[in-house]
Amino acid sequence: MAKTLSLDNLHRLVDALLQEGVRVVGPKRTGTLTVYAPLTRGEELELNELPRRSAKETFFPPCETILSFEKRDGRTTVSDPDLDRLPETVLIGVRPCDAAAPGILDAVFSWDYDDPFFLERRKRTTIIGIACTSSDDACFCTAVGLTPDARQGSDLFLVPVEGGGFAVEALDAKGSALKERHAALFTAGGNTVPLPLAEPKVEPLDLEKIRAWLDGNFEHPLWKEIADRCAGCGACAFLCPACHCFDIVDEGGEGSGCRRKHWDACGFGKFTMHASAHNPRDVQPQRYRNRIMHKFKYYRDKFGQTLCTGCGRCIRWCPVGIDIKAVLDEINKKS
Ligand code: SF4
Ligand code: SF4
Repeated sequence: MAKTLSLDNLHRLVDALLQEGVRVVGPKRTGTLTVYAPLTRGEELELNELPRRSAKETFFPPCETILSFEKRDGRTTVSDPDLDRLPETVLIGVRPCDAAAPGILDAVFSWDYDDPFFLERRKRTTIIGIACTSSDDACFCTAVGLTPDARQGSDLFLVPVEGGGFAVEALDAKGSALKERHAALFTAGGNTVPLPLAEPKVEPLDLEKIRAWLDGNFEHPLWKEIADRCAGCGACAFLCPACHCFDIVDEGGEGSGCRRKHWDACGFGKFTMHASAHNPRDVQPQRYRNRIMHKFKYYRDKFGQTLCTGCGRCIRWCPVGIDIKAVLDEINKKS
């Protein structure tokens, strides 16, 4: 019989995990924003709003040290961060557009080189997804192959039901283990009639047609029309659950320091700047073109997946109103 979980018991689940020393990350109100952040008690969970930033930083922090060095008595010692100390983590209350993204990124973080920082966090994290019952004008998950109740990427999945609470599905071994560990909180039976799902008002995109059009239109005037006004702020990349570019920088001095990964964005002017000062993408439309090409052509060519889950964040928060869905609709029409 299907199991259900009341909202109170969801809060108790968070509290119980915290007591066990598990790091629990979920949507939480901080100041004026809702963001995915470590919770300190279950009641902090804010499930009614899509967090401003995506959940990707749970696996891929904005900055992280990948090695440290120290020079003493003429000898240099290099040490790696101790990844064994990464905490067991439960990422809870994750919308389908955020839950799907880490699995899409597995391909690139385990491609020609296994990125232990990303992959170790993936291994130690259980994702509790939740179906969406509300959307706004920027949401377009259904246009890129997801749905408001897509299970992709979740280990345990919650569907809000009539009368409050959630129907619960364990989708894999991690989800089952978590449910078993706290079996007393899950009730057999109860109302399992789902609340109506969100209905993003969008037409599906033909992603194969878009890819084919991108293949032949590297120099199309559309890029200038769309992106001459792009401010190159990088907000779209930083808020995106699927953007994953980073730079590697050595910091410190002669005696000691560290090598760190920092998020980067192809919208930044210096992203492709060569040491010679030549920049092969020297104007903003070329940079925005790369954003679209990477998400809808290059990543599909290489890994067979689209690097966009339709979360709409880059539409909501672009300071100059560039709307990726409108761009894709335009390309869809031209294809
Ligand atoms: S490209 Fe935009 S809509 Fe797509 S996943 Fe990234 S932020 Fe969301
Ligand atoms: S958020 Fe808008 S202005 Fe900023 S880099 Fe992205 S497209 Fe350009």
